[in-house]
Amino acid sequence: MSANIEQRRHLVTALPGPRSVELMARKNAAVAAGIGTTMPVFAVEAGGGIVKDVDGNSLIDLGSGIAVTTVGNSAPRVVDAVKAQVDAFTHTCFMVTPYEGYVAVAEQLNRLTPGDHEKVSALFNSGAEAVENAIKIARAHTKKQAVVVFDHAYHGRTNLTMAMTAKSMPYKSGFGPFAPEVYRAPLSYPFRDSKDVDGQAAAQRAISVIEKQVGADNLAAVVIEPIQGEGGFIVPADGFLPAIVDWCTANGVVFVADEVQTGFARTGAMFACDREGIVPDLIVTAKGIAGGLPLSAVTGRADIMNASHVSGLGGTYGGNPLACAAALATIETIEADNLVDRALEIEHLMLDTLHRLQADDDRLGDVRGRGAMIAVELVKSGTDEPDADLAKTIASNAHQQGVIVLTCGTYGNVLRFLPPLAISDDLLTEALDILTNLFKETAQ
Ligand code: PMP
Repeated sequence: MSANIEQRRHLVTALPGPRSVELMARKNAAVAAGIGTTMPVFAVEAGGGIVKDVDGNSLIDLGSGIAVTTVGNSAPRVVDAVKAQVDAFTHTCFMVTPYEGYVAVAEQLNRLTPGDHEKVSALFNSGAEAVENAIKIARAHTKKQAVVVFDHAYHGRTNLTMAMTAKSMPYKSGFGPFAPEVYRAPLSYPFRDSKDVDGQAAAQRAISVIEKQVGADNLAAVVIEPIQGEGGFIVPADGFLPAIVDWCTANGVVFVADEVQTGFARTGAMFACDREGIVPDLIVTAKGIAGGLPLSAVTGRADIMNASHVSGLGGTYGGNPLACAAALATIETIEADNLVDRALEIEHLMLDTLHRLQADDDRLGDVRGRGAMIAVELVKSGTDEPDADLAKTIASNAHQQGVIVLTCGTYGNVLRFLPPLAISDDLLTEALDILTNLFKETAQ
């Protein structure tokens, strides 16, 4: 945890404060309108569970910059490693003159990701770029083209990953045409599936769609988030993911786990696949991998990964040395500080509070998630009708009080919590108290 920032929520102005208002006006004049803002508050410093703004306000961070600063912002080992690397060299391009850091990150990924088969890795910059590369690799290996994704999926904003992402507004609307050969199958969504659809039945429903509408002979890869992120933190029913993996294995289809949001201790295991007991052929990682520096990866079975011809994969910045130094320090921090266990503690604390709140307030239709990836799906009282307005109201009232929370979900009705694992129990409890009061106020 960053020792320099007092771990205390403290507001000295209304939010946004005057300096943030000024900067927002500059942003609106200088930055493309398509780049949105969750909270119009400009950051100057962050660490532990606190983000400080330009007006001197200290906010509680329940967002981690969308699941990125899992080890905390400016985590001490990450800062030291990046400083040392920036003094040594900033870039040579790994494809021109390689460096050890990239190789060391690949070795760590091969060691940490699920399964003890022979693995290799390739490094990129963003989650979307890594997802695209997983598809290139699966196509090169299988010599097939089709890709299956799921309802509510989010895989990125590049052309291929827009096709893979489910939600039109704001991610796709007006930006087509999209890449071909992408097909969508139904997900297991326990809160919205009828009660007789267990994990096995949901898998059979998806497999039937895949077999009838695509065909295993045409299918290169099935890509799935083991717990959906932007789609609403949907945890599939037990047995759903293993059945899909088994079907892929039996049918010569590459199973790709998109762990961009769930990876690196976020869900109370190093990877979400671990808690499902599944071993993906390829796993895509990003976000939490490097403590805030841009890095992503594809890791997987050597025979699949090595199907691409030499120089078929790569990119100028992929596996940048600063990002690799940050990733090695991030992994060291997760292991040395037992952050997997910390994520489980956060899970217990959050689920306990939110379940108690749910017992008194039926607008909390579903409380779900694992580790420090927890959500509440909000519905209109007495129904299962999504209530996006309530999610918006609670989130913006929380923002006013200095708590950074995010929303998500196909229906925009899910409040999601992604605290850094460096947050203290005190800050987490304070944020949950604030949220509890906001629910009580809006119930009146
Ligand atoms: N996959 C998943 C599951 C994600 O959550 C995200 C980002 N929210 C992406 C892919 C895309 O990552 P990036 O924004 O780094 O391109």
